Amino acid sequence: MRIFIAGLGTETNSFSPVPTGHESFAETLLFHGDATRNTQHMFAQPLHEWRARAEADGAQVIEGLCAAAQPGGTTVRPVYEALRDELLANIRAALPLDVVLVNMHGSMVAEGYDDCEGDMLARIRSLVGPDVALGAELDLHCSITDAMLAAADALVTYKEYPHVDSRERAAELYAICTAKARGKAAPVMAKHDCRMVSAWWTTVEPTATLVRDMQAREGRDGILSVSFAHGFPWADVPDGAASVVVVADGDLGKAAAVAAEFGARIWAMRHQTAPVFETIDSALDKAADGRPGPLVLADVSDNAGGGAPSDSTFLLRAVLDRGLTDVVAGIYWDPVAVRFCVEAGEGARLDLRLGGKCGPVSGAPLDLEVRVMKILTDASQAFGTARNSMGTAVWLRLGDDIDIVANTLRTQTFHPDAYTQFGIDVAAKHLVLVKSSQHFRAGFGPLAREVLHVAGPGAITPDFAHIPFRKLTRPYWPRVEDPFAAES
Ligand SMILES: [Zn+2]
Repeated sequence: MRIFIAGLGTETNSFSPVPTGHESFAETLLFHGDATRNTQHMFAQPLHEWRARAEADGAQVIEGLCAAAQPGGTTVRPVYEALRDELLANIRAALPLDVVLVNMHGSMVAEGYDDCEGDMLARIRSLVGPDVALGAELDLHCSITDAMLAAADALVTYKEYPHVDSRERAAELYAICTAKARGKAAPVMAKHDCRMVSAWWTTVEPTATLVRDMQAREGRDGILSVSFAHGFPWADVPDGAASVVVVADGDLGKAAAVAAEFGARIWAMRHQTAPVFETIDSALDKAADGRPGPLVLADVSDNAGGGAPSDSTFLLRAVLDRGLTDVVAGIYWDPVAVRFCVEAGEGARLDLRLGGKCGPVSGAPLDLEVRVMKILTDASQAFGTARNSMGTAVWLRLGDDIDIVANTLRTQTFHPDAYTQFGIDVAAKHLVLVKSSQHFRAGFGPLAREVLHVAGPGAITPDFAHIPFRKLTRPYWPRVEDPFAAES
């Protein structure tokens, strides 16, 4: 059996001012056929899993492009087309094939392409013909389109947020597609459109039980896979919104019924699962309540993991205006400020303009008198079992006890070691600010007295009813109370 493996994706925020061009791929993940020999990057994990399984099965593995960019704004057209065409050329050169497995995101938008995954899968299908087993693994923050369903034999999304299960999902997709190639299964797919734009945390109830029940349905009665695609709320595309995708063995009606069943559950629990956010003021009121231990405030509206610039100043400005002390804040993506600090050197005191450089979503810059405490030219932080580069990072001190970390490689704040690698004692702080939505919880949760999600201004403000969509024109909850009635 000949199995082709590859990856191409990014998460596109239509409202982000950060263009996604070649540099964004080059500095995040870009390998031309040898990713599994060179990196443990999260986006390459499915390729590792596929290679290991295929080699154990005695199959021949042909590895193509593996490219991912930090989430940002719309991908530049020639950059997308060049990467896509490289992937297609890899496949053409590898023919004949029995199985094609591609890791994608599912919310990649390029200039002229609202549905990059549908475009890629359709072109792959026309290249390999109808009989080759074609599967794609997707981030759960994806939109499932008709073009994707028509081209692929199986689509499998992560089930967990935080995304800790990409290798398990890769194994799931491998099993389905190799079964088709061996003539042991005939995968068919059905989608249920939930008509919802929201966010779900799979670590808390009732979503945690929903995920377990999805898994319990798999592997019996001809149900091969159940995926809950949460959608990515800030991708302004016609097919945006959450959906359920079910892969069944030969029985489309059964796939549709199970998708509708889980869709109904997700709809029924919508008020219970709707995330609760603090305003900046309500969060800082709680910071002033005198209780000991770190209060962790997540600046969800400026999460680079959702394509935001990660240099907004709204929250830190409010902290400074209130005179709060004993604070650590980060990670501010500000290559210019970092450059000035590197030039000035460790121990230097200087007037520094920090953040607020990317546009209105970043707010106004902060003009601060800082001391450069430490410079790390190869800073990194933990993300699951992988290390995530921060580029060059600086620890700045403002006054006696406000610590700030700024860096050159745009990333969300995944883990306390983003701060502790400098010697900052995060556990001893009163207030800890992180630019992230959810992934920070694994590391910061255990040391926090409380975690609050703060929805200030920014590129990914989670006010789902009022996101200024232009292309997503279908009715959805919570913009309308009953989108099913509104459309009929
Ligand atoms: Zn995601």
